[in-house]
Amino acid sequence: MSEVVLKTENLSKSYSVKHKTIPALKDLSLEIKRGEFVAIMGHSGSGKTTLLSILGCLDKPTEGSVYLDGVNLAGLHGSQLSRIRRNKIGFVFQSFNLLPYLNAKENVELAMESTGMSKSERSARATELLALVGLSGREDHRPQQLSAGEQQRVAIARALANNPSVILADELTGNLDGKTKYEIMKLLVKLNLQGTTIVLVTHDQKVAAESERTIRLASGRIKSEGRGNLAKRKENHPPNAKGTQVPEEIKADEFYDEG
Ligand code: ADP
Ligand code: MG
Repeated sequence: MSEVVLKTENLSKSYSVKHKTIPALKDLSLEIKRGEFVAIMGHSGSGKTTLLSILGCLDKPTEGSVYLDGVNLAGLHGSQLSRIRRNKIGFVFQSFNLLPYLNAKENVELAMESTGMSKSERSARATELLALVGLSGREDHRPQQLSAGEQQRVAIARALANNPSVILADELTGNLDGKTKYEIMKLLVKLNLQGTTIVLVTHDQKVAAESERTIRLASGRIKSEGRGNLAKRKENHPPNAKGTQVPEEIKADEFYDEG
């Protein structure tokens, strides 16, 4: 009965560089269900970023199909795709990608421009989202006045702004120390337990272990799938009607080790 948010069918992607063809994804089929927290793992060059770019309509496959909320993305034009990117997908990148001359709140508000929301609605929503990610009181701080972990929280708030169908995150903990990584994972688990669907690309075993389902890529193919700690926790504590009944604790010790 779980609804499928993202689906790929026999996805292939090759890059052409100087008359050479570089295969990045090969015949890859997967499904992400609404409410899932999936970690995509694999060594450098295994195709993780390519897959995420295609899932997020930033790039097109060479072959195969991608469906988002049941819509085949191949049939859409540029402006339709950018509307989907804005309204249905929240991106979070390793490098945060915040605008340096805007404060935290303005960075979040910017994501809601040209969505038909009034200025006061955007302002209220940005404040609410910054509170959700634990940044109340820091609204008027610019990125350079925030720590790396705090900047990533702003980026997460921005990704949530238009209530997307899915959050796509590429190595979002890659620039963070052990403790901060742990805090960010705790936040993502909290958001997931509130219903946000998350697809996270990571080469970090500890981060992946805290997700619900892991998909391991090798040379552009799915090599294996596994269950993460969140799957066990959801099983032991089935979400209530509000979906918020599952304990949020994740094992901090392993993350702190690196600190
Ligand atoms: P990962 O994110 O797992 O490190 P990528 O998806 O970035 O892997 O890359 C998969 C393969 O595609 C690699 O062999 C990489 O060199 C190649 N590749 C990625 N992007 C490009 C590009 N823009 N042009 C040419 N080759 C690329
Ligand atoms: Mg990558």
